[in-house]
Amino acid sequence: VAASAVPTVRPAVNRFLASLSQADARRLEPLLASVEVRAGEVLHSPDAGYEHAYVYFPTSCLISLLYSTREGASVEVAVVGTDGLVGDVAAHTGAAPTHHAVVQIGGQALRIGPAVLRAQAAASESLRRALWCYTYALMTQIVQISVCNTVHPLHQRLCRWILVCRDRLGIREIPATQEMIARLLAVRRESVSHAAVSLQTEGLVRYVRGHVQIVDAARMEAAVCECHGVIRDAYAHLVEAMP
Ligand SMILES: [Zn+2]
Repeated sequence: VAASAVPTVRPAVNRFLASLSQADARRLEPLLASVEVRAGEVLHSPDAGYEHAYVYFPTSCLISLLYSTREGASVEVAVVGTDGLVGDVAAHTGAAPTHHAVVQIGGQALRIGPAVLRAQAAASESLRRALWCYTYALMTQIVQISVCNTVHPLHQRLCRWILVCRDRLGIREIPATQEMIARLLAVRRESVSHAAVSLQTEGLVRYVRGHVQIVDAARMEAAVCECHGVIRDAYAHLVEAMP
């Protein structure tokens, strides 16, 4: 089974930081603080704004970007793991975010003050370019998830969600209950259960103690809609385009 190549233990490394030039990595390293973030912790919100909120580079946690409607519904518009970072790094407009950044799966992250990162980016063209490239890949993910949520059937959206999380965490066992997935996909719990049972019956995944375990990654990748590939390719190009 292809999934066996992917470890079950979360590797503690942030791939965005790991792909920076040596000079940028050396300058940033002493400025990053290692922190533990817990599931449910809100890292950014429309109320607090970005100005005093840290920028986070997950090393073993998963963070959802969620839009909440006035009626109280919320939907996941992007997910960030060890592939990237959360925070206002590109625009520095001073505008508050329109979404929340919430820890879905707790773990470790490295963080830096926004003004400190901004000063580093001002001094390094290669770091600026890396941040722009990342922002573009994140934008691609946001666009694709919005397309996926609008036009693709739920069992494919569920496959896409599981595979995107796997890519972000670098593991094939994702700590997620069906209730949590239903909330993030903004659908009823019963609908997710129905789709989840059919994935399990087909032998693609297994649910063990609040974890989704990918059993057959190759068949899942064959069953998922194009959205997973579009998101994966955007991040692959990001790594290739890094200075
Ligand atoms: Zn899709």
